[in-house]
Formats: sequence, structure tokens, C-alpha cells
Amino acid sequence: MSRNLLLISTSTTHGTGYLEHAESEIKELLKGKSSLLFIPFARPNGISHADYTAKAREAFEKWGISVTGVHEHDNPVKAVNEAEAVFIGGGNTFLLLKQLYANKLVEPLKERVRKGMPYIGTSAGTNVAGKTIGTTNDMPIVHPKTLDALELVPFNINPHYLDPIPDSTHMGETRETRILEFHGHNRQPVVGLREGSMLRVQSDKIELKGPLTARVFLQGQKPMEFAPSDDITFLLEAY
Ligand code: ASP
Repeated sequence: MSRNLLLISTSTTHGTGYLEHAESEIKELLKGKSSLLFIPFARPNGISHADYTAKAREAFEKWGISVTGVHEHDNPVKAVNEAEAVFIGGGNTFLLLKQLYANKLVEPLKERVRKGMPYIGTSAGTNVAGKTIGTTNDMPIVHPKTLDALELVPFNINPHYLDPIPDSTHMGETRETRILEFHGHNRQPVVGLREGSMLRVQSDKIELKGPLTARVFLQGQKPMEFAPSDDITFLLEAY
């Protein structure tokens, strides 16, 4: 499989502009490309697909990449099949997956990405690159026909991973508790990606990028921390 992915936890970190913290990784991923197809389907409300696409366009045009929104194309499947690269932005993960199935984009995306088309995901766009969307932080505001996602990688991701806040009086489950609950019913590894972190996948090589460690959960084992310099290849191997 000749995968070429950049799976980013968040589009915007505290104190930096849209996609700014991932600029060098994005430029490296898109080297030699001049256009990109943006999929704005995760956006639940507040901003239209056109305005969301304009935001992505503004960021990528500075880097010499032209952007079209998938909704601007009469035939979204053809748009995916002909794209030089794809970027799926964040929002609500349930809505995004539902829309990907409704527009019959799941299979074409899987096929193109497995053949090496560069894929960028932020947040919900990173969730759907995993095996299922069962570890999103979002509420199921709509009902996709399945939680099975694009499975561009054989594990799940929890973006915006949050560590417990010391001395907090909050009584809800921590992110870690929820992921351990997930592992009561599912086998695949889960990568908790903190703000500013991203995974770079090139064929069978995977690297953690950004300044922070990532928290990796394997079923039945204690959570582990991996640094950007650590070998995390096992995540791409069968589990
Ligand atoms: N709502 C997040 C996003 O920004 C996804 C998540 O937290 O799971 O896309």
C-alpha cells in the first residue's frame, strides 16, 4: 500500500493561525502538487460549505496550492477520482461520515489513498481516516449507517486528546476512561493525539510529529506515551 497521509489533531492550536502549526509537514506532503480537493462536509452549522472552503483556500493558496470544494463539483466521485490530493476538515465526525457515505465517497477515497494520493485530515477528518469513528469526542447528532470509517490506518484516533486536569471537581469520564471503555468492546489500538500533534504515514512508515508525546492505548495494556523520536511502526501492523 503506498499511503501518503498527514493526520492532524487540530486545525488551529492556541496562538497560531489556521493550519499554521502543520505548515512544514503539509508542504512536504504536497510537494510537486498544485491543487487540492477540500471536503467541508463535517461542518454542522455556523459556516457554509462555501465559507469553510474559502477558509481552506486562503491557507493553501499562500503555499501555491489551489483549492476546490467537493460541493462545487457536479460529480463528487469524479472529483475524488481526479484529485491531486484531498483534505478533509473538522467539525462533527458523525455528520462527516454520513455525508461521505451519502455521496458515495468512501470507496473512491479508500482506493485513491491506498494508491498514494496525499490525504490530509484535521480532527473529524483525522477520525474518519481510522478504522471506526468510535473514539471521536463528538455527539451523534446524525446517524451514519455504520461507524466503519475509511480505514486508511488500522487503528482509531482520538484527536484533541485531553489529559485529566489535576484537582478538577468535574465528575464526567476522563478521555482515558472513555478509551479504556472502548477497549472493553473493541480491539484496535487508539492513538490519543494532543493539540499540535500529527501522524505522518508514508506507506508502511509512521511518525509522530509536533512537540508533544502521544498517548497510545492497546487493549488490555496500560496506556503508553510515545515521543516523536520513538518507533511506532507496530501501529500499522496487524493487531
Ligand atoms: N469535533 C472534532 C473536530 O473538530 C472531532 C473530535 O473531537 O472528535 O472535528
